[in-house]
Formats: sequence, structure tokens, C-alpha cells
Amino acid sequence: MAMLEVRDVHTYYGNIHALKGVSLTIDKGEIVTLIGANGAGKSTTLNTICGLIKPRQGSILLEGQEIHVKPAHQIVGLGISQAPEGRRIFSRLTVRENLEMGAFLRRDLDGIQRDMERVFTLFPRLKERIKQVGGTLSGGEQQMLAIGRALMANPRVLLLDEPSMGLAPLLVEEIFEVVSQLNGAGTTILLVEQNALMALSIAHRGYVLETGRVALAGSAAELRENPEVQRAYLGGN
Ligand code: ATP
Repeated sequence: MAMLEVRDVHTYYGNIHALKGVSLTIDKGEIVTLIGANGAGKSTTLNTICGLIKPRQGSILLEGQEIHVKPAHQIVGLGISQAPEGRRIFSRLTVRENLEMGAFLRRDLDGIQRDMERVFTLFPRLKERIKQVGGTLSGGEQQMLAIGRALMANPRVLLLDEPSMGLAPLLVEEIFEVVSQLNGAGTTILLVEQNALMALSIAHRGYVLETGRVALAGSAAELRENPEVQRAYLGGN
């Protein structure tokens, strides 16, 4: 059984039909990437999975259990958390407080402390800035904080929305290295990226979204070799 299954999901914003029957699966331990142009529906897919927008049709299952009928906070409790596009950290709260917010549903203080240490091991720069307010962090540090905050929910599936956006190449590599490490340590990841080259370099499989539909699916190697993908997303001719 898939860890996460999105089955024929249709999502609307008012009359705008943003997802037109999206189906995808993520197995335990995989990194699956969702690539596509601006407006293809990548963020909408993530926001539908975590319950921020309700699908009008279709279903979403976490280890076989229907989650699309549940409110967003319960979905976090079941094991899905997201580092959203644009980071959305709490700019007036400190690094520590932002991380604590990620654990808002948890009562296991020892586990929370252990996970905070894990975040600091992954991102030592956050530890150095533990008392600094989020709004004064650099873009890269804010991205680290957004990922760290999502990890504080101790997710079984981590959703990452454009972690490379607006970052210098070296930082992008650092962030992707951490994403690989997290996966190596057992976290299942759905990674949305416009930087298809980077995403396909660490993912096991991928889906290409075009105007609210899955246009292509395959292993990362297959997608990298695909002439259509090369032309549209990898800067090939
Ligand atoms: P980007 O990389 O630009 O974020 P995306 O692939 O994540 O693109 P979405 O943000 O999911 O795309 O958008 C999918 C479609 O839904 C687009 O046509 C977009 O204009 C529309 N859309 C997204 N958010 C809203 C909203 N809040 N209200 C109305 N339409 C929306």
C-alpha cells in the first residue's frame, strides 16, 4: 500500500478548476517530485493534501486512511506537514518559538526536545540564531526555519513547496543535501520544484503537472532522459 495516495482529485478556487483529476502515489521512504510551470497546480496539490483546500471530487489516503475529509490540524496530527511556498514563517517570533509552533499538537516534551536538537544538527545556523526573530533572518535561513518547523511535527510525509526559490546556488545545494539526508534517515518526501534539474537529481520518481493534470510520470532517470521534459523543464533544445 502507498504511504500517500492522491486519487482523481479535483480542486477549485470558486469557478477556477485548478486540479482536474490529479492522481499520484508516494511509497514509504521515497522522494517524489512534482514539477511543472507556474500555475500548473503544484502548490494547490500540496495544499489539498494537507487540508488547507478541500477537493470537490476524489480522495486522499494516508496509509489507506481517507484524510481529505479531515480538518487541516488533524491531518498534521496524522503525520503530514508542509514547509510552504514563500516560507511563511512567523516573522515576529524567534527561531525557537517558530520551531515550537511546529510542534503545537505534541505533548511529548522529550520528543520535542530531541527533534529540536535534530533540526539544529541539520541546520547549525539556526542554533546560532535561536533567539533572533524570524523576520530578520536571511532568505536561506528562513527556508531552513520553514523546513525545521515542518520537521517539528515529526511528520511521516514531509511536503516541501519550492525550497530552492530565491536562493543562491550554493544555498540551494545545501538545502537539497539536507533533504537527501532527511530522506536517508527515513522521512518520505513530496517535493515541489521549479528547479527540475535539482529535484530530479535527488528524487526517486516524479510527476509532471500541466494545467491541473498529470502529463507525465516516471522514475527520475526516465524523466531526465525524456526529450519533452528536457525541452520544457531542463533548458534543453
Ligand atoms: P507556482 O509555481 O506559480 O506557485 P503552481 O504550479 O504551484 O504554480 P498553483 O499555485 O497551484 O500553481 O495554481 C494553480 C492554478 O490555480 C493557477 O491557475 C492559479 O492561478 C490558480 N490559483 C491558485 N491559487 C488561487 C487562489 N487563491 N484563487 C484563485 N485561483 C488560484
